[in-house]
Amino acid sequence: MASYKDKLKYITPPAIPKCIFCGAPPPLTGEHIFPRWSHQYLPTTTEKNYESLRGIRNPIDSKHYEIKKPGDIRHWKVQCVCSTTCNNGWMRREIEDSAKPHLIPLIKGEECRIFPAAQTRIAAWAVLKAMVAEWTIKGHATTNHMQRKYLMRHYIPPQKGWGVWIGHFVSDRSKTARYYPLWEAHPYLLMPDRLAARRPDKVATYFNSQSSTQVIGQLFIHVLRSPMPNLIPRWRFAPPDRGSLLRIWPQSQASVVWPPKSMSDMDAVYTSNAFMNFILGIQRRERETPTQA
Ligand SMILES: [Zn+2]
Repeated sequence: MASYKDKLKYITPPAIPKCIFCGAPPPLTGEHIFPRWSHQYLPTTTEKNYESLRGIRNPIDSKHYEIKKPGDIRHWKVQCVCSTTCNNGWMRREIEDSAKPHLIPLIKGEECRIFPAAQTRIAAWAVLKAMVAEWTIKGHATTNHMQRKYLMRHYIPPQKGWGVWIGHFVSDRSKTARYYPLWEAHPYLLMPDRLAARRPDKVATYFNSQSSTQVIGQLFIHVLRSPMPNLIPRWRFAPPDRGSLLRIWPQSQASVVWPPKSMSDMDAVYTSNAFMNFILGIQRRERETPTQA
């Protein structure tokens, strides 16, 4: 178990000296992970000192951390972007405003058809939020600067290393069930075998890959990114989610009917942890393999 001190050290915010997209100097403005227009679709908070429904766990060696910060997740903003060029420029115009009309029917669980162009607008929005949310905790920003530049210039996710899936999720909010967090992220370190072999300790000291999950209303969004070239294109979720998750990035040529088969709480927990558990399995096998002298 991680000690209290470990947890405090762990949630140190990073220093953000300039806009993470265009590099403009301060003052920087805050970007909402859950935009204002989406707040009406989030669960209402009535309790004082409400848990934010934000979970973060990652495999550093054998330690796992789970963070549940007090406060309303609606107010979660990351102060990391300039106002003119980014926050009130391309981010609003090309990403937020162009994705919002496609997101709302999915959030409300309305029957519709999602065409490839709309899938790309939704994926770009999800990737933007994932890139911003990384800057909440020191050491968790895993995205390469050139990939942020790509999104800024082309308004679509980077062509390599990113995968985005969506699902229809209505949480079972009974008192006995584990309440599913509205945001969950798992950063991790992936290395090619030849590099890993040079590290006798096999302990992650930094991260280069991440999974993150966001839930708004009935919409479940899962984003994976990794610099390992073949990993994301080959990644497949095991049943039961194979039938209920729709991959919207890399681009597909087909339109899809919404909603697909709904996900249960168990499906949501499985999906948000599947990639991390896969990585943990590899790391466990590496640790158990004796290092050759
Ligand atoms: Zn900027």
